[in-house]
Amino acid sequence: MRWQTFAVCAGLVRAQDRSQGMRGKRRMRMQGKVAVITGAASGIGRRTAERVVEEGGRVILADIQDAAGQRLAETLGEATRFIRCDVTREADIAAAVALAERIWGRLDLMFNNAGRPGVPDPIESMPAEGWDEAMAVLLRSVMLGIKHAAPVMTRQGGGAIVNTASVAGLIPGSTATAYSVAKSAVIQLTKCAALELAGQGVRVNCICPGVIATPIFGRSAGLPTQLDAKVAEEAARTAAGMHPLGREGRADDIADGVLYLADDRAGFVTGIALTIDGGLAAGMTPAQRGALWAPL
Ligand code: NAD
Repeated sequence: MRWQTFAVCAGLVRAQDRSQGMRGKRRMRMQGKVAVITGAASGIGRRTAERVVEEGGRVILADIQDAAGQRLAETLGEATRFIRCDVTREADIAAAVALAERIWGRLDLMFNNAGRPGVPDPIESMPAEGWDEAMAVLLRSVMLGIKHAAPVMTRQGGGAIVNTASVAGLIPGSTATAYSVAKSAVIQLTKCAALELAGQGVRVNCICPGVIATPIFGRSAGLPTQLDAKVAEEAARTAAGMHPLGREGRADDIADGVLYLADDRAGFVTGIALTIDGGLAAGMTPAQRGALWAPL
């Protein structure tokens, strides 16, 4: 009995060693590399920035949340700089890219990630300005990020651009129309850009997250920031029931995908939409279906 316990523990230690070895290797993936991340002050962008630094890279943290962005830059140290960047303003995006080139001389990863809930209205009562604003933040910003990152990457012989789309861009009606349409267009934009830039060694891919517990849920409810964490917790619980894999999505799950797409090991990957959603876009498990529909 004692021997069995020992064997199990030894196995666990070996597995741990292996996973620490893996982590060691993963840390090197961004060694010497430079990233610009929009929407870096919170949620998916923030976690990805932390992971880039953990894996040896340097990051321009671009966001409209000055205090949170500055705090993150102070926490992560010399490998980061915060820049106020409203992604609806072309000059701000150009400045974020220029800053990376000016202080670190290159740009290896452009993560066009900033976003917020779009207008919730159905089409019949859609305010035209609300639609335009949603498209500016969620779609036009991605085009501008690609536009300004691509020349730098082309000059240095290549690079990776990753855009944040959503399962909402794959499943019509899964959320508000403006958001869903913008995210769907991000997927198409990613593919078009991948083809335009393939000859220049610039790979362009996007990720489609499922429901990830981040402060965006507080923002969608129009709640003050101090309630964000509570709302995110609630969202995580709901999401756990929606995802066939039975747990909430985490910002780390998405950061893993971004780092894979940024890595040289994804050197033959361009124009894809990497779905990281616990199976949500695939459909429902028999158990989930059973809970919703009576058997026919
Ligand atoms: P979040 O609210 O935690 O982070 C979004 C960040 O974008 C914030 O820091 C915010 O300040 C910033 N931002 C918003 N408008 C901006 C602007 N005009 N200019 C610059 N920065 C701006 O939310 P998140 O969940 O981390 O969202 C990140 C991305 O992931 C978004 O594009 C979102 O649509 C997408 N997404 C999220 C989920 C989810 O379930 N959380 C699912 C699919 C896709």
